[in-house]
This record gives sequence, C-alpha cells and structure tokens, in this order.
Amino acid sequence: ALKPEDFIIYLKKVAKVIEENKEYITELDSETGDGDHWLNMNIGFQKLVEKTGEWKQMNFQELFQNIAMVLMSAMGGSSGVLYGSAYLKSSMLMKDKEIMDEMLFGEMLLDWAEAIASRGNAKPGYKTMLDAIYPAANAYQKSLNEGNDIADCLHKMVMAAKQGADSTREMEAVKGRASYREDKSVGYLDPGAVTMAMQLECMAECFA
Ligand code: ADP
Ligand code: MG
Ligand code: MG
Repeated sequence: ALKPEDFIIYLKKVAKVIEENKEYITELDSETGDGDHWLNMNIGFQKLVEKTGEWKQMNFQELFQNIAMVLMSAMGGSSGVLYGSAYLKSSMLMKDKEIMDEMLFGEMLLDWAEAIASRGNAKPGYKTMLDAIYPAANAYQKSLNEGNDIADCLHKMVMAAKQGADSTREMEAVKGRASYREDKSVGYLDPGAVTMAMQLECMAECFA
C-alpha cells in the first residue's frame, strides 16, 4: 500500500528520472512535435519537488489536488492539462481515504487512463501517452483479478507500459502535434508515452 509520504518519494524519483533523460526526451519530441516535452515535464516535476516541503501533512485528496494545480499551471503544454485532469480525478478517488491499497491503486490507474482519454479526446492507438497508461492499467487490473501478488501486478503493469510506449512507433498519430506531420510520425516513438512509462516504472519501485 501507499501512504502520502510514499507518493512524495515517488514524485522525487520521477523528477530525477526526467532530469536524467533530458537529451532523449527532447529528441523524441523534436522528431514528432515541438521539442518541449522534456522541458514541460522537467519544470512540472521540479516544481512539485519544490512544493513537497509544504505538503508533508496532507492526505491523498489534498496532495493530489495540489499536484493537479501545479501541473496545470507550471507544466504547460498538452501534458500539463492532461496530467492535471488525471490527478484531479485521483483526488476525488482518495476522498476520505488515508491509505492507497492495491485495489485503490488499480482504480487510480484506470482513472488516469479515463481522465486523459476524455480530456484529450483520445483513444488507445492514437499514438499518445494513453498508449502507455491504458494497457498498464489493464494489465495491473487483470493480474490483481487473477489473485496474483502485488509484485506480479506491478511487474505486469511496467511491462505493459513499456510495450505500449514501444508500440507507438508503428502508430499513426491522430491527436496532438505528431498528427500535424504528413507522415503522421510513423516510425517515431511518442514522447508522452515514453515519459508515462518512466513514471509507472518509478511507481512500481515505491509501492511496498
Ligand atoms: P505539446 O504537444 O503541447 O508541446 P508536450 O510536448 O508536453 O505538449 O506533450 C506532448 C505529448 O502529449 C504527446 O507526446 C502525447 O503523448 C500527449 N498528447 C498530446 N495531445 C494529446 C491528446 N489529445 N490526448 C492524449 N495525449 C495527448
Ligand atoms: Mg511538445
Ligand atoms: Mg509545446
């Protein structure tokens, strides 16, 4: 299960991974978009880390509300809006809940996929971050329903996220800047899917 303080550790972990992958993520968005995806993600997560000092006493609902606000205002780009709506949905999920257990975690993943799909007006297969979170949420849920232990659920989540991100290479972009190109960015990975998979990998490391 996760406590709010574990989630703060998660945010710091993501911030570090994003920071370390500057060249890779910038290159991905330069190929299919406008090249700022790393900058957006980095500003957003650095800002979150900066704020965590003030957030130590918060429950999940308050924490997620605050994360959503920072991401919508500081992150910018499509990602800021999409992650903002994902965290807003999580804040409602965690109303009156102190701990995020295995079931709630699964619901949070499904909520993220749903919030991003509805805010972005996107579906799986459109070559977006949804192509990482959607299969990851479903793989986690399937493993949980089969009665597997949490380690197995998380492992399947991470594998599905990475495979999902990889699968965007063959996809034609339907939404976002990658779709403005004549070739619909076929042959290139979607940057948002790659960074989503990075976040889910960090999540698996924090969940005990
Ligand atoms: P921008 O495209 O505004 O410069 P970013 O570069 O930060 O914003 O984010 C780009 C990523 O956002 C894409 O790689 C894609 O994964 C995701 N994205 C863009 N538009 C949508 C959408 N309509 N629905 C879901 N995801 C989207
Ligand atoms: Mg961009
Ligand atoms: Mg941009």
